[in-house]
Amino acid sequence: MIANAPVHLQHRGLVSLALVRQLLSSTIETESHWIKDLSDREFAAEFTRIAHAKSFMLRWQADPDFRAQVSTDPAQAVARYNLQVDPEEIKPFWAPEFLEPLRASGKLPILAQRCQDFIQASEERICTDRIDTSHNRQYQAWRSRQIERLSGQVSQFIAQGVMHAPLSFELSKGCSVGCWFCSVSAPTLNDIFLYTPENARLWQDILQLLKNVLGTAAASGFCYWATDPLDNPHYEQFLCDFHAILGVFPQTTTAQSLKDIARTKSLLKLALEKGGKLNRFSILSLKMFDRVSAAFTPEELAFVGLVLQNQEAGMVKANAGRMRDRNEHQAAKSNTAVDTSLPTTNACVSGFLFNLVDRNVKLISPCPASELWPHGYRVYAEGTFTTVAELTDFLDRAIETHMPLTLRSSDLLRFRSDLKYEEFEDGFHVSTRFLTLKFRNEAYLKQLGQMILQGDKTVAQITSLFNILGVNEVTTLAALNLMFAKGIFED
Ligand code: SF4
Repeated sequence: MIANAPVHLQHRGLVSLALVRQLLSSTIETESHWIKDLSDREFAAEFTRIAHAKSFMLRWQADPDFRAQVSTDPAQAVARYNLQVDPEEIKPFWAPEFLEPLRASGKLPILAQRCQDFIQASEERICTDRIDTSHNRQYQAWRSRQIERLSGQVSQFIAQGVMHAPLSFELSKGCSVGCWFCSVSAPTLNDIFLYTPENARLWQDILQLLKNVLGTAAASGFCYWATDPLDNPHYEQFLCDFHAILGVFPQTTTAQSLKDIARTKSLLKLALEKGGKLNRFSILSLKMFDRVSAAFTPEELAFVGLVLQNQEAGMVKANAGRMRDRNEHQAAKSNTAVDTSLPTTNACVSGFLFNLVDRNVKLISPCPASELWPHGYRVYAEGTFTTVAELTDFLDRAIETHMPLTLRSSDLLRFRSDLKYEEFEDGFHVSTRFLTLKFRNEAYLKQLGQMILQGDKTVAQITSLFNILGVNEVTTLAALNLMFAKGIFED
C-alpha cells in the first residue's frame, strides 16, 4: 500500500472509491452498515479483499485445474494467479457443505459475510419496482400473465431467473461473434445503426415515446439481443441518451470485452459514473477467461458478472436457436432422440423488441424453445415503422389487442394446449409437470371447466349460459378473470 496516495489510486482503472461506496450505500436501508461506516482506508482494503474473493470464485467455477490445485495446495493456487485472498476465509463458497452450518451458527467468516453483503448491495433490485410503478396497467397485467404462463412451462429455477424486461433494442443487424450455441441464432453482422444526427433524433424520439407509453417500466430496457453491443462503435452514445431520457444507464452484456480493452474499461467507468452497477462479459473459452483476468484488475471486475460459457465451467446451454439445431443434428447423426426433458429458454423480454437498422418491432415473451418458437420466445405482434407516428400506431394497436386488463366478452376461451385437464366434483385442475393450478370448492366450477375445455365459446356465451344455470354474470366473470390472470388460456 502506498502510504499517502489518494485512496482511489489504489484501485487501478476503477472510479473513485467514494463513488463505489455511494453506489453501494444507495441500496442499503439501515443507518449503520460496514459499507457506510468504515473509514476510507478500511473500506478500500475490504473492497480489494472482496474483489479478489470474487475473482477466486470465478476462477474456481471456470477452471478445473484451479479447483484441483486449491484442494492440494491452496496457498500456491492463489499465489499463482496473484489472488490476494486466503481460501479458508471464503471456504463456505467453494466448499458449500460448510455454508449452511456456518450461517446457522452465525459463524460465517467475516470476509464471506461481507462478500454476501457486497453482492446484495450491488444487485440491480429496482427493475421490478420500476415496472410495478408504471402507469401502464395494461402492460403490467399482460406481463404478469406471461410470468404466470412461463412458470408452468419451465422449471422453477429457470422461471425465476427470467427478468421479463419490457424492452430490448438491437443497434446492429446481426452479430460479429458467431457463438456456436447462440440461442437466438444471430446472423452474421451486416449493418450498424450509427449515431448520425438523423438516427440520434429518431432514437431520442423513440425513447421519449416509450417513456410516455410504458412510464417508469421503460427504464428497465437494454440495448442488445441477437447482437453484441460493442459491434456498434457508437453504442455508448445511445446509452447516454437512454440515461438522459429514461434516467437509468442500461446494463451491457458483451462477448467482446477484449476487442478494445480501453473502450471496455471506459464503458465500465461510464456505467458506474451514471449509476449502472451491472454489466456482464460472456467468457467463451478458458483462454479468454485467462486473458480477461490479465487485462482487468479484480477491482475493475467487482461489478462485472462473468457469464462462464467455456466448456470447462459446465454451464448447461439453453436448447434454443443454434444450440437446438446442433443438438438435433447430433441426435440425427447418432440415431438418438434429443433430450427434451428440461424445456428451456434464454429469452428474458416480455415486451417490445426493436431492430433499429430494419426499423422493425415485435411484441415477444419467453416460452420453451420448440419447432414453432425455436428461439425460446413467442411473437405476439410484429411490424415495421419509418416514423415515430407509425411506431406509436403499432404500440397502441399491440396494447389494445394483446393487453386487455380483463377478458373481453368476444374472447374465445380455450385452455392452453400444454395444460393437462383433470375434473373433480367441485371443480378442476390444470397442470403441467412443473405446476398445478386448482380451481375447486364451488360446484359450478366443474361445468365451467367443461365449457372452457370444449374451446368453442366466447366469454359472453359462457356467462349467459351460466346465467341460465343460476350463476350470475359477476360470479362467472370473476372466476374467468382469475383464470385469465393465471395465464391458462390460449392467447
Ligand atoms: S450469443 Fe450473443 S455474442 Fe454470441 S452470437 Fe449470439 S448474440 Fe452474438
